[in-house]
Amino acid sequence: MKMLIIGGGPAGRSAAMEAAQLGEEVILIEKKKVGGTCLHEGCMVVSGLNDVVRFYLDSQKYTEMGIISEECPVNFKEIINGIKRIIEKISNVLDKETRETGAEIISGEAKLLDSMVEVEGENHNYDKLLIATGARPFLPPIPGVEHALNYHDVLDLKRIPEKLLIVGGGAIAAEFASIFSSLGSEVKLISRNKFLGNLDTDIKSYIIGNLLKGVEIMENTSVEEVNQRVATTSKGDLEGQVFLATGMTPNSEIAKDTVKIGLKNEIIVDREMKTSHTDLYAAGDVVGTIGTTPVARREGIVAARNACGVPSVMDYDLIPQSLNLYYQITTLISDKSSKGVNAMIPGSAGPGSFWRVLDGDTGLTKMSVDLDSGKIKNVSSISPSSRTSIPYLAKMMQDGYQAGDFDDFLETHPSTDAIYKLLHFFAKHS
Ligand SMILES: Cc1cc2nc3c(=O)[nH]c(=O)nc-3n(C[C@H](O)[C@H](O)[C@H](O)COP(=O)(O)OP(=O)(O)OC[C@H]3O[C@@H](n4cnc5c(N)ncnc54)[C@H](O)[C@@H]3O)c2cc1C
Repeated sequence: MKMLIIGGGPAGRSAAMEAAQLGEEVILIEKKKVGGTCLHEGCMVVSGLNDVVRFYLDSQKYTEMGIISEECPVNFKEIINGIKRIIEKISNVLDKETRETGAEIISGEAKLLDSMVEVEGENHNYDKLLIATGARPFLPPIPGVEHALNYHDVLDLKRIPEKLLIVGGGAIAAEFASIFSSLGSEVKLISRNKFLGNLDTDIKSYIIGNLLKGVEIMENTSVEEVNQRVATTSKGDLEGQVFLATGMTPNSEIAKDTVKIGLKNEIIVDREMKTSHTDLYAAGDVVGTIGTTPVARREGIVAARNACGVPSVMDYDLIPQSLNLYYQITTLISDKSSKGVNAMIPGSAGPGSFWRVLDGDTGLTKMSVDLDSGKIKNVSSISPSSRTSIPYLAKMMQDGYQAGDFDDFLETHPSTDAIYKLLHFFAKHS
């Protein structure tokens, strides 16, 4: 069986490695460099900036407490240069890792022909084809939108913008608002609806009050026009460089004449990642599901297995979602019904939070449990480590663990994870 994969981001690369390891002939086609949005413009760029931001904020705190005598000024140009060098290195590692599984990588933009794929004038046949072309920023139809920046432009910035108007109400808007306000920009965040409307209200209040203190948040405000340095909004003109974080549009155009496309431009797939065409699969941001790297990877693996004749089904239950600010904010929703008891506790003092104790700024964890059944319903945690602890909890919940099973849970100490404290509490009461 010969499998062609278009797109070398998390979905395409995971699929390529899986199919190659299953012994099939695999060709991965990538028009830029392997790694996709996650490596070149998204997760890794935010991680690189956030590591510096945390160090910078910590240096301010230590200066305020008389521990060190000088704040460390940041050199933005060198941050950008460093991120680019590190991304280049990771991309080379990913390229090597992918080829080592036996998959071939071809550089160039793929086009779909009738049962063939054309890359740079050369036609390739296939038995199975996976489309993993990702997504791009959604640009709202506002006059002057071409003057606005988006995440594509971050590594091209020459300096920290003095005034930034971030348009959007989701994770990407919050992350860039945190980064640039911490680095000295005057940031206004303009959200058409509620900002972080999908988060628990206590968690959202903590984020606004403690982690985005320097950001002016304008909810229920729409942007009507954008100019070089001004945005006209429903609440008047605002001065600053506009940065759009207004969602994503799947890159599905490549297959628009071949497979069914949904209302949001997403390629429609079933739980086996099969499209409406027998030999075509799709995975990752192009299918418009959750829009995170682990989900894209998993979808890619599911698609590859099915294409290789190994039955596999994508499961969207209990998927942790995370937001990277000074602390990590991670949520896990298993059951949205109101039945359940909520408990909330401040974060523990420990690595990454100790020097924030006097400010009462050690994070927050909230959990909801159905005391009758012992079922853990929802968890949201703001801590230096919630991105690591919650995915393990998700796996345990998938495997049927309930609050009572954590009575004998042994933590390490000091730990900034407050989840186990709430689980101990619920274990006694359920
Ligand atoms: C600012 C930002 C921050 C993010 N932070 C996180 C985070 O912290 N955690 C997280 O889990 N997720 C994060 N994400 C989301 C994550 O980046 C995506 O969900 C993930 O990259 C999707 O993977 P993918 O393989 O579907 O698509 P992509 O990563 O977009 O890869 C698609 C690839 O296909 C290639 N391609 C497209 N068309 C063609 C063609 N015709 N021919 C050849 N190649 C083609 C592209 O060049 C690209 O390399 C973030 C996203 C953004 C924008």
